[in-house]
Amino acid sequence: MIDHRRLGRELDLFVSDPLAGAGLPIWLPAGAAARHAVEEYVRELERRSGHQHVYSPPLGKRELFELSGHLGYFADDMFPPLRLSADDEFVLRPALCPHHALVFRARGRSYRELPLRIAELGGMYRSERSGVLGGLSRVRAISLNDAHIFCAPEQVGAEVAEILGLIRAAHAALGVRPAGFRLSLRGPGEKYVGDDAQWARAEVLLRGALAGVEYVEAAGEAAFYGPKIDIQIVDAAGRESTISTIQVDFDKPERFDLSYTDSDGSRRRPVMLHRSLVGSMERLFAYLIEAHEGAFPAWYAPVQLVVLPVDDGQAGAAADLARRAVDAGLRVEVDAAGSLGARVRDAARRRVPYLGVLGAREAAAGALALRLRDGRALAPMPADAALALIGGQVATRSADLLPG
Ligand SMILES: [Zn+2]
Repeated sequence: MIDHRRLGRELDLFVSDPLAGAGLPIWLPAGAAARHAVEEYVRELERRSGHQHVYSPPLGKRELFELSGHLGYFADDMFPPLRLSADDEFVLRPALCPHHALVFRARGRSYRELPLRIAELGGMYRSERSGVLGGLSRVRAISLNDAHIFCAPEQVGAEVAEILGLIRAAHAALGVRPAGFRLSLRGPGEKYVGDDAQWARAEVLLRGALAGVEYVEAAGEAAFYGPKIDIQIVDAAGRESTISTIQVDFDKPERFDLSYTDSDGSRRRPVMLHRSLVGSMERLFAYLIEAHEGAFPAWYAPVQLVVLPVDDGQAGAAADLARRAVDAGLRVEVDAAGSLGARVRDAARRRVPYLGVLGAREAAAGALALRLRDGRALAPMPADAALALIGGQVATRSADLLPG
């Protein structure tokens, strides 16, 4: 069976070392290169759609998480506070929302700034029990693609529709095939904040955004502060989890006393939307490794091109070609050790999308013979044309290795 933990080892993407701790994987250079490409893409998508990026620390004072409600309603999922002295305790944050509420509050806000879209790919922590941890799919240190959108109540519907469009675009680029949409609602019990009217309003807004979309309802799966739209994936072992989410929150703006000046000069309270386009980098890659069986689209493949000189006579030409590929923004390696057949097999095993074979004839002519990881071989072409071909597929984030 396909298992991202086995592929992660074979492809040198990440390592889980018991000395570092369960649920605390380390991204190796190949995994980090792929993740970096995905992070760049997500930031660019967010920047183009009016998000502003911030950085905030992964821990904060205990009082911040008392105010946010996390210590009251979410403490079971958090690490115990870190005590520096009797009146100085810090918490490893379980979510980014409290810090982003402080971003909104950093100065007075006007209706002209809304919707204010604050995004961060930030660290957070959950005290998952060791029995449920595995590879990248359930971890204790989480890097979340997150944003909080502060908007007027009448802007919520359009914002949610916009976010659904961004989620679809990100899924298409990455090769995510969702298993379904879920409307996550309150269940019985005391673990929810806010009054019934707030919950009902939020639910109406989300149901409106889902008009025309097939979805299931799940009682008991809401956040403690509001209902949410969850987009679900299923892994190779058949386990379902959430990859993308949109949540409506009337509670935190009250707790943090957030307000803006409306056009008539009155103070109004914004609504806070929590949303993640692609979830955490850990869970996303657990899914992508399995969905692509390690053969990522070229734009986020750890190494995009391996140059294979046929013998020592082409060493200089191979180094020169590799430098030009690096200058063109590609991730490239030269592999000169061992038989050509063994090197071709090794590049295929590592799922490198493009192999550039450089024999004496190609080197003399400034040409390159491209082979693709699926076995297709192209006739030798000028090396510049080969680099342009690869660069074009990468720049357009194509799922295919050749132009259509
Ligand atoms: Zn949040």
